Amino acid sequence: MDKTELKPFWVDLHVHTLLSPCGELEMGAPEIAEKAREAGIDIIGIADHNTCENFPGVSGAAAGSPVVLPCIETQSAEDVHILCVFPSYEAALSYKEWLWKRIRPIPNDVDTFGYQIVVDAENNIVKEEETLLIQGAGYEVDQIVARVQEAGGLAILAHVDRPAFSYPAALGPMAEDYPADAFELSCRLNSGEAQKWREMYPAPRAFIRSSDSHSLSTLSRANCTRMMLMEPTFEEIKKALRGEEGRRISWPWG
Ligand SMILES: [Zn+2]
Ligand SMILES: [Zn+2]
Repeated sequence: MDKTELKPFWVDLHVHTLLSPCGELEMGAPEIAEKAREAGIDIIGIADHNTCENFPGVSGAAAGSPVVLPCIETQSAEDVHILCVFPSYEAALSYKEWLWKRIRPIPNDVDTFGYQIVVDAENNIVKEEETLLIQGAGYEVDQIVARVQEAGGLAILAHVDRPAFSYPAALGPMAEDYPADAFELSCRLNSGEAQKWREMYPAPRAFIRSSDSHSLSTLSRANCTRMMLMEPTFEEIKKALRGEEGRRISWPWG
């Protein structure tokens, strides 16, 4: 492969919608697509808590610009967040079916947590999700990582630098060879802080940066990851995380 054919793409795999109770109502399908385009982001992952049902709406609104990938931010039994990225909506739904065998039927309290709304590409309401999405599923983080990878997806430990809902917060430091496809750092870190993580977990460990957007204002190149890819696809991202065939994550990300 001629590496000169690789081009930079801006990737933000961690974007919530109005389906997440903590996501602002402004996180509708056309709004997210338009803001990501304006911000020059090439690939976004729609990653709501424990579900993925707003993927079709946002993907339809984006119509390929940006490219939209189906993701699920899974919460484990230990309250660890795992960013799960799938090659297709079918793969995401099949994983979700497994996940929801161990999601408790706790009703969402809208006044406490916020609305959980599924929309189509024009923001018409498809349904309101009645089960509380912010809850730990009855699977351990190791089981979730293995299941996502079996389904052909990428399992990324979310915001490992954060003091809550991260692997270190719940279980202590990750082993250097922990079998996740990448560790995610939150966009709050400056480059020096990110560099410290790199020193603790040297290559080939992959790090990504994501916005974890709950509102439109944080969709920005400054909050995501620049990757050198042939084209904006799941398969190319997978290669970049593994450093295969010249695909790579630009580091440091400044
Ligand atoms: Zn999270
Ligand atoms: Zn999140």
